[in-house]
Amino acid sequence: MSATPEYEVYAIRYADQGDALVSAGSLMLSASHEQMIPGMAYYVYVIQGHGKTIAVDTGYAPALTDRLNSRLFFSGPDGMRKLGHDPANISDLIITHAHYDHVGNLEDFTNATFHIDTEMMPIVEGTDPCHPFFRQGYGKRDCATIRRFKAEGRLVEHANVSVPWPGIELIHIGGHCRGQMAIRVNTRRGPVVLASDAAHLYQEWEEERPFGVFYDMKAMLDGYRTLSDLSGCKREFMIAGHDVAVMGMFPAPAKELEGDVVALHADPNPSS
Ligand SMILES: [Zn+2]
Repeated sequence: MSATPEYEVYAIRYADQGDALVSAGSLMLSASHEQMIPGMAYYVYVIQGHGKTIAVDTGYAPALTDRLNSRLFFSGPDGMRKLGHDPANISDLIITHAHYDHVGNLEDFTNATFHIDTEMMPIVEGTDPCHPFFRQGYGKRDCATIRRFKAEGRLVEHANVSVPWPGIELIHIGGHCRGQMAIRVNTRRGPVVLASDAAHLYQEWEEERPFGVFYDMKAMLDGYRTLSDLSGCKREFMIAGHDVAVMGMFPAPAKELEGDVVALHADPNPSS
């Protein structure tokens, strides 16, 4: 039997919420309102190896920057360009979930096949009998784009756990939103878990403090433990989806990418 392929995985930080600290209690239920923590960072990812380049999420549409009160460094697709990838040449894009900050630039990937959790589709197609609270994370334009991809035969739906390519697993976690996926990618230092919004912050995961936006609280809490199982409870194998700490944990792949991109397949920095 041949060995499981190993991939390179890059986290690209395209935006953040600025330098001001925020209260932990404003992000996580049961966390202290007195504890001040950094705001969230926004990432897209690129997985490459074995002749494939796979994008993970696209970032929010730049037009939303003011409304989100965030600091946009560059768009998600431009972040991928910094790594040398033209979005038009990317063959596959994994949508970890369809919240606006993950699917705002889908149209840039003109030749991609898109991968999504099948549990996401009732929300995207408007058949989930959901409450307005559950709709707030989704853009009408983004959902229409995903429906168009489906009509064009460019959308692949995945259920539970699937392995679309050897060494890359898509894992349904649910909870935060109905069709939330995490991704486990084999690298030369072992499997790395991209939690996406199954765990926005390390504190959320490690202390099991529920994030303030969720579809199913029980599934979200169970999801934190699934992430522990997948990562062996080790931070260096568990990449929280919006935590600023990720940028300090790993080296940049090149000097000119410092502060923008980190290599998650590389050994963690000694101080982390
Ligand atoms: Zn998010």
